[in-house]
Amino acid sequence: MKFCVLTLGCKSNQSESSLIENILIENSHCKTSLEESPDVCIINTCSVTAKSDYQSRQLIRRALKAGASVIVTGCYSELNQPLIRQISKTIEIVKNADKDAYFKDKFGHSPNPGTTAPGDHGNSRALLKIQDGCNAYCTYCQIPQTRGASRSRPVSEVIREAQAFEEAGFMEIVITGIHIGYYGVDLNPKTELSALIENILINTNNLRIRLTSIEVSEITDRLIRLYENGRICSHIHIPLQSGDDVILKKMNRPYNTSDFRRTILRLHSAIDNISIGTDVIVGFPGETHDSFNDTYGFISSIPLVYLHVFPYSKRKNTKAAEMPGAVDEGIKKQWAAHLRELSGEKKQAYMSAQAGKVLCAAVETIENGSFSGTTGNYLKIVSELVPGFEIRKKHLVNLIVTGQEDDRLAGKPVIIR
Ligand code: SF4
Repeated sequence: MKFCVLTLGCKSNQSESSLIENILIENSHCKTSLEESPDVCIINTCSVTAKSDYQSRQLIRRALKAGASVIVTGCYSELNQPLIRQISKTIEIVKNADKDAYFKDKFGHSPNPGTTAPGDHGNSRALLKIQDGCNAYCTYCQIPQTRGASRSRPVSEVIREAQAFEEAGFMEIVITGIHIGYYGVDLNPKTELSALIENILINTNNLRIRLTSIEVSEITDRLIRLYENGRICSHIHIPLQSGDDVILKKMNRPYNTSDFRRTILRLHSAIDNISIGTDVIVGFPGETHDSFNDTYGFISSIPLVYLHVFPYSKRKNTKAAEMPGAVDEGIKKQWAAHLRELSGEKKQAYMSAQAGKVLCAAVETIENGSFSGTTGNYLKIVSELVPGFEIRKKHLVNLIVTGQEDDRLAGKPVIIR
């Protein structure tokens, strides 16, 4: 049958959608787009903000209009089954916890049992999901409700998957999960994220490893030492959420701004040319112009490269939803614009500082006589194809930075002796 998988949200959702696609493709079903009248449309929804709720409903309606049988899963479907049923009673809803088993049972065996290692379905950097769920209960977040308690995949399964990705020709894996810093706490014997990464390094050859989001309180000395290994991407994403200690407390975040600053400065001095990104929520209940200015001032004062800025969005059944002091939507928009401008300035300064450096990029596109990719320090780079250099998707290439083109670096392949 013809199918399409539509995905909203985080890298965990994306890696799960890759698994679903692989199961269907490996069982001879044909991947198409929604415009090509699929028989089945699978929608992996998100509910991190009101906007993602709206986008989830929109995708459901579009899929129904395209005449497909619709299967909905993901965080929006966890808490909004009645609303989905109102859209149509024909929709099949699959709980997050049942995702893996449901698609294997319904559409046949998985390609490489226990792994999502794909055939070649277009990705150039492989998403390796190691953990799911969260026990932190930040007051603004629904995820503990939609994804349940933290649970880690067995070490052996993760290693097998990393090896399968390397066999499939990938040279970069992106370690993903909902709360990867919790990895291993629930396993018997207990282990931790750093030990897992060391294990992957030992059991694979040249694969480079990129971490996705990790909480500041879970960055250990052992993890920082791992960055000395050239196979770990010099990039890390650490959610801040607010630069005001009163707001951080209301968010139930387990650190204050001094803790955060200390760790950022340690990373910055320990790891050459590291790229550090963060998440910030603006307009949290009770936030004032003064606390916003604290956040702006704090972020300006630390070496970050980019910000993901989210206007606060009231989420069902969260503590923050009951808190007084709602911030006007117009003010939220203004604050978000200020921070995005600051993010642009920081990124520009960091990109300018890359001139003349040699960076290693995973090749993602090759077209019209040029290629582009993502560098270890999480920048997009573009280059012309150069005779004598064999460029292939998924492969790592060293490039000397020669300039910039819009929000991308420009470079030229070089051979490192
Ligand atoms: S750490 Fe906080 S923000 Fe992140 S998933 Fe868990 S509850 Fe949500």
